[in-house]
Amino acid sequence: MTKDELLEKALCCNRCGTCRGVVQDEVPDVAFSTQCPCSMTLFGAYEPSGLMYLARAIAQGDLKWNDDLAKILYSCTMCGYCDDFCQRGYRHTPCKVILEELRVIIPEKLKPAAIKKQAGSLDVPRATKLGVLTKYGIVEASAGKSAVVLFGDNTIISNAAKLEEIGFIIQKSGKKVGCFISKPLPPVSAALLSGGFRKELEAAIAAIDTRLEAAGVKTVIVYNPESLSVLKRFSRSNVEFISITRFCADMLKSKKIKTKKVKIGKVTFQDPCHLGRYSKEYAAPREIMQRLGLDVVEMWRTGYNSLCCGAGGGVNVNRPDLAKKYADNRWQEIKASGAQTLLTACVFCNANLRQAKPKNVAMVDITSVVAQALGYTGKEARS
Ligand code: SF4
Ligand code: SF4
Repeated sequence: MTKDELLEKALCCNRCGTCRGVVQDEVPDVAFSTQCPCSMTLFGAYEPSGLMYLARAIAQGDLKWNDDLAKILYSCTMCGYCDDFCQRGYRHTPCKVILEELRVIIPEKLKPAAIKKQAGSLDVPRATKLGVLTKYGIVEASAGKSAVVLFGDNTIISNAAKLEEIGFIIQKSGKKVGCFISKPLPPVSAALLSGGFRKELEAAIAAIDTRLEAAGVKTVIVYNPESLSVLKRFSRSNVEFISITRFCADMLKSKKIKTKKVKIGKVTFQDPCHLGRYSKEYAAPREIMQRLGLDVVEMWRTGYNSLCCGAGGGVNVNRPDLAKKYADNRWQEIKASGAQTLLTACVFCNANLRQAKPKNVAMVDITSVVAQALGYTGKEARS
């Protein structure tokens, strides 16, 4: 993007400040009316409008990058709320693209090492655990035989326990699903955007497109919302990318699928930003909770108004102190909901919120609940 293009985009923001909060009518308690994780924790420059003015001044050459500006930029979780809110009819500032561009153009020496390392860890690990899936009838993806495949993203590729659960769910669905097991696809995720590696991300997704098309893949099931969102945004193929929650929700519609009650008390759900806001998948988790007969209580800031857990944008690895503060903010509302169990659908939400978790609220990944409802005990792989 040229400086003129960045300026043109940044000028869309007139600094009204409304994307700092939720429309008051939708939130009965004023304590839960703010929305941008960094601006509710810090101060004006950290608000979306502050960041948009920072972009404007950088593009105009009125501000030069320094440590303080870098600190402001990397306090943003890239949750996407400001972008989404601004599109709801008022005007449209493309905040997402602007924030991503700032992370591309910031001088290399100001890029936090932890964020660069997180993006670098997206290379395919030498020893993956994807072979676990074959125990559940998931076969090596090959030309003409794999219309549906599971994406080996960075959160599951080496996680045998999670792959067992996912394999079990897929087996129960009765669907024929493949996976690139022996030569995995690059496990891309939004960490590449947080690190400013946009070109590398686009190149990796172009390579993924080529392999998906060569294998005749029509649908890809993705577990990690941060991988789902970038595949949906940047793939140029005709392949459909769906979340594992959508796969589970559709599967549970079938009368042939029998489930048993999972006893986890009153539950509430944390919408991951990359599942909801970026991928527009708000319905699937709620369909799952309804099909499983769970006792659901929604938080006030929920669905498209959901508050970020605080992990995104590399804040979890670069500023763990801040990520914990953001998580504390979210827990105020989780506790106010009266839920006994918080359901998550993203390992980063799970890990970040867990560090501020009160003792009297349990946390479970929604796919683990689906697996349990289908009869998974954790012993299946050994039987
Ligand atoms: S991004 Fe949009 S809603 Fe937010 S301050 Fe700027 S103009 Fe207002
Ligand atoms: S992307 Fe999220 S954290 Fe960043 S400025 Fe916008 S609302 Fe705040």
